[in-house]
Amino acid sequence: MKDIEQCPKCGNYFTVEERFAGFPGCKESEEIFCPHDGCDYYYTRRSNGVFQTYKAKPPKKEANKEIKDK
Ligand SMILES: [Zn+2]
Repeated sequence: MKDIEQCPKCGNYFTVEERFAGFPGCKESEEIFCPHDGCDYYYTRRSNGVFQTYKAKPPKKEANKEIKDK
C-alpha cells in the first residue's frame, strides 16, 4: 500500500510504504521520516509494521503529455 504525501516542512513529496515486520497485533507508533535531503521532518502513525519512505515527484495535474507524435 503506497501513499503519496507532501512534507509540510520542505514541501517535497514522498511515498510511504508500510512493511510488516511479522509481529501481528502489536501496534506501536512508528516514525515516518521525510526522505528528502536536509529535512528532518517526521511524524508517527500507529502500525504493526515499519514505514519506509521514498522520494517522490509531485503528482502531475495533466497526464496528457505522454502522447508523442508518431
Ligand atoms: Zn521534508
